[in-house]
Amino acid sequence: MYVFTKEKDKEKTFINEEIIKKTLEETANPDSKQIREILQKSLNKQRLEPKEVATLLNASSKEQWEEIFEAARTLKEKVYGNRIVLFAPLYIGNECINDCEYCGFRTSNKLVIRKTLSLEELKKEVETLVSKGHKRLIVVYGEHPKYSPEFISKTIDIIYNTKLGNGEIRRVNVNAAPQTIEGYKIIKEVGIGTFQIFQETYHYPTYKKLHPRGPKSNFAWRLYGLDRAMLAGIDDVGIGALFGLYHWKFEVMGLIYHTIHLEERFGVGPHTISFPRIEPAVGTPIAERPPYLVSDENFKKLVAVLRLAVPYTGLILTARELADLRREVLKLGVSQIDAGSSIGVGSYSETDPEVIKKSQFILGDTRTLDEVIYELLKENYIPSFCTACYRAGRTGEHFMEFAIPGFVKRFCTPNALFTLNEYLNDYASPKTKTLGKEVINKEVEKITDKQKDIIIQGLKRIDMGERDVRF
Ligand code: SAM
Ligand code: SF4
Repeated sequence: MYVFTKEKDKEKTFINEEIIKKTLEETANPDSKQIREILQKSLNKQRLEPKEVATLLNASSKEQWEEIFEAARTLKEKVYGNRIVLFAPLYIGNECINDCEYCGFRTSNKLVIRKTLSLEELKKEVETLVSKGHKRLIVVYGEHPKYSPEFISKTIDIIYNTKLGNGEIRRVNVNAAPQTIEGYKIIKEVGIGTFQIFQETYHYPTYKKLHPRGPKSNFAWRLYGLDRAMLAGIDDVGIGALFGLYHWKFEVMGLIYHTIHLEERFGVGPHTISFPRIEPAVGTPIAERPPYLVSDENFKKLVAVLRLAVPYTGLILTARELADLRREVLKLGVSQIDAGSSIGVGSYSETDPEVIKKSQFILGDTRTLDEVIYELLKENYIPSFCTACYRAGRTGEHFMEFAIPGFVKRFCTPNALFTLNEYLNDYASPKTKTLGKEVINKEVEKITDKQKDIIIQGLKRIDMGERDVRF
């Protein structure tokens, strides 16, 4: 059982810079026939190989990119339909012993106000989130001895046990420092959804430059962080890269190699892939001028290529991005977004003029949850708060949606409609409620088999006051 944890292990990892660079060079200026063949493979729901991904990344003409965007949109519609899962980030504490140069929480940043929620404050934050209608959270922690596996477990336990009216949090995903196998086991006990670790950059020299101190300066320890999670029995893991630190094409290749590594070693790839772009942060010059700034156009390209490269995985788009861009990128294959987000420690329940100084970075999309839901409905999406698979022990649900014929129809669509109906009855503004009920009726009308009656019954039970109806 290998788990590379030492700096010197770097040479043995699955990231080989020379190979990535060579593959990107060798696939330069692809012809359209080549690109079409690769798109066809992806539309047949097969994961692409690194050379194929590099070929797509190197598409050069406007027409070639249009074909790639079109294929990404088709793949999303064909496999996942029009559901979008909603969640919110919850920052537990911003103390940190690392010094990541792009992050407002880094230890040397004297402008940030350090704060860790007390258990009482945490409860208040969760109540505020629940009162808006949230059911799914990602909890976020700096890296600090205070944030031990026991502390992480304790905070998640409080979140699950904080109920308000009809509401509760039903799934907690985690974005925290990489743990030891023993540490992951403690966190697993409390019942988590996905454990996310972003490698930030897969380019080793850049990684070393930007992480000069602290445990995070060890590239291999972080790269194998999710291997240790898997070995501890956490089978939903999320990977990601922070775009803007190094060349975007290289980072997409890194994400693909990471995916293939997890598939080969554990028989299952990442549950989700995240692709945050660097945002400005207090006291953080590098975040104002990222060394490899990714334009909106290239951002769209990288999302489309990721969708096509790993057709089975969930793609997460965060409120780091502006609302207009989010609207466009959503169509290219995104499956989850956060909404109504606030990223200061304690900032959901408190209005604090100094909130920016407790935030990791500055958000692009500050619409409320209700506004986002209203817009999604207007664009014919079904906003979903579904947590059914995870609670029924069906882990890796994204893979099932993709791999099992009829799964979306049998489970995902009804559960999306049920959780939307709960939201409409309990939390929506009048205009969102009216539109949402229309969308639900339209969706139900599209169903032609015996599922239809079962769904109508479920929706009625929710209208009568029952909650947590699910398949
Ligand atoms: N401290 C843990 C770690 O670094 O893995 C977990 C939480 S960290 C707060 C979550 C992620 O935020 C990081 O992995 C990084 O990708 C992202 N991030 C850091 N600085 C950022 C910035 N200025 N803009 C956007 N995202 C940023
Ligand atoms: Fe700390 Fe994470 Fe920010 Fe790095 S990215 S400074 S580890 S909170």
